[in-house]
Amino acid sequence: MHAVLVLGDQLWANSPLLRANSPSETTVILIEALSESKVVWVHKARTALFLSAMRHFAQQLRADGFKVIYSKLADTGEVSLPDRVVQLCQSHGISHLNLLEPGEWRLEQDILNATKQAGVGLRIVEDSHFMCSRAAFAKWASKYKQLRMEYFYREMRQQHQVLMDGKDPEGGQWNFDADNRSAFPKSGPGEITPHCGFEPDDITREVIGEVERLLPDNPGQLNSFAWPVTPVQARQAMAHFIEHRLPKFGPYQDAMWTDTPFGWHSLLAAAINLHLFDPREVISAAEQAYEQGKVDLPSAEGFIRQILGWREFMRGVYWLDMPLMRQANHLKAEHPLPAWFWTGKTHMNCMKESIGQTLEHAYAHHIQRLMVIGNFALLAGLSPQQVEDWFLAVYVDAVEWVELPNVAGMALFANGGRFTSKPYIASGAYIKRMSNYCQGCKYRPDQKTGDTACPFTTLYWDFIARHEPMLVGNPRTALMAKNWQKQDNQAQAAIRQTAETMLRNLDTL
Ligand SMILES: Cc1cc2nc3c(=O)[nH]c(=O)nc-3n(C[C@H](O)[C@H](O)[C@H](O)COP(=O)(O)OP(=O)(O)OC[C@H]3O[C@@H](n4cnc5c(N)ncnc54)[C@H](O)[C@@H]3O)c2cc1C
Ligand code: SF4
Repeated sequence: MHAVLVLGDQLWANSPLLRANSPSETTVILIEALSESKVVWVHKARTALFLSAMRHFAQQLRADGFKVIYSKLADTGEVSLPDRVVQLCQSHGISHLNLLEPGEWRLEQDILNATKQAGVGLRIVEDSHFMCSRAAFAKWASKYKQLRMEYFYREMRQQHQVLMDGKDPEGGQWNFDADNRSAFPKSGPGEITPHCGFEPDDITREVIGEVERLLPDNPGQLNSFAWPVTPVQARQAMAHFIEHRLPKFGPYQDAMWTDTPFGWHSLLAAAINLHLFDPREVISAAEQAYEQGKVDLPSAEGFIRQILGWREFMRGVYWLDMPLMRQANHLKAEHPLPAWFWTGKTHMNCMKESIGQTLEHAYAHHIQRLMVIGNFALLAGLSPQQVEDWFLAVYVDAVEWVELPNVAGMALFANGGRFTSKPYIASGAYIKRMSNYCQGCKYRPDQKTGDTACPFTTLYWDFIARHEPMLVGNPRTALMAKNWQKQDNQAQAAIRQTAETMLRNLDTL
């Protein structure tokens, strides 16, 4: 007997594996595994989202006539997901499994090994939810010494005919980044149309109760859980975003402001990652909004670039570079994660805001992840593996194929610039320009030494001093190194001493 194994982030009704035969001839296995919420110490909202979406998906499959074998948390117990797969195959007489490519290298290996040992046949099929297959990406990457998202993205635009005017990019430009970097006005962000949230239904409430009971000590809270958990809700959230929030997404995608956790962002990553709807749908909706004159080109292009460009690129790089990417530590960064990463209790207001909202909502937007939290981790030389575990745990949209390249590659330069031309470091001046965080902070963004020196600013210069030879040799960072060299010996020594004290006392910053 054959069955289709559907993993928690493959809740795709149009999966080729679910379309291959009629529903009545197809057995589907779904497994909730407590161990997957314990591999890292996962935010309660992330676990609740996965479980609720899985239970809704199973309900729909049953309604469509599929035979569903569903293992709830309580049935799976402490058994690992691959071992539970084997148990269920044995108890239901299943000899062959079909599976879409998993999103995580470790899980793929574990399922391969467990099924092989148990003598269960396993066929892994391309996950065509993605717009670029693993093989196509590897072929593209083989043409280049250095991988750059921009070139990949241009090919994807051409190949999928997105925002194209014949052979040329719509509007004569591939990239509108320069139009998309505004801070909010000094008076603040003004009124932001709220994103679309969903009242928990019976299934979600049941899941929330179980998560509270089984994972009481995991981080986060579930009081405000409002994530889309079905394809219908996900499409509603998408339509709402395109109509009400996309027009302002472009200019303000990098802006940050106190008590403004979501800005004009889409909050769609979790729904897309779980396969609740197809990335092609949201790309086409954004393109249509532009064609109908509802959204300007920089906003439409800026949004499409994230999904057709960055999202697909990150997946490609992940599969190309695993398992080495998980161990990469190019800068030999070893400091342990400060305890306040799990509480938000730090004097650095930007970190307090970004981590605080992460623990509350399981969400922070890209610039908070990259230029605040990731930037601090890079400047302070935190261990990449500990930072990676944290990022995988705390975000509702976290799945390893997208989390790891963003953390190891984009934020921490742990893979030595495999696809970035330089480390993304910035001092307090950048955070001051892009937010109002510094106004409520004990530290001063322009101060490099002394008790109120901004840790971002001091550690920025110290990072340059520590990695001077590497930065001098790179045309994109040579100026940073020159600016460091221009400072006199006394000034340099004072900065380095302040930095040393900070690095010895990361827990108290
Ligand atoms: C350190 C770090 C860790 C990250 N971890 C994750 C993660 O675990 N899961 C995840 O989905 N994204 C991750 N990202 C990428 C990005 O920050 C999130 O996708 C985005 O913040 C999710 O919010 P949103 O849906 O409101 O996105 P929006 O800002 O509205 O962007 C639209 C969509 O574009 C895609 N996207 C945007 N940026 C990226 C990117 N750099 N890589 C891949 N896709 C992107 C997402 O699907 C997102 O929903 C990470 C980025 C950084 C710098
Ligand atoms: S002063 Fe420094 S630590 Fe404080 S909010 Fe600004 S950048 Fe962050």
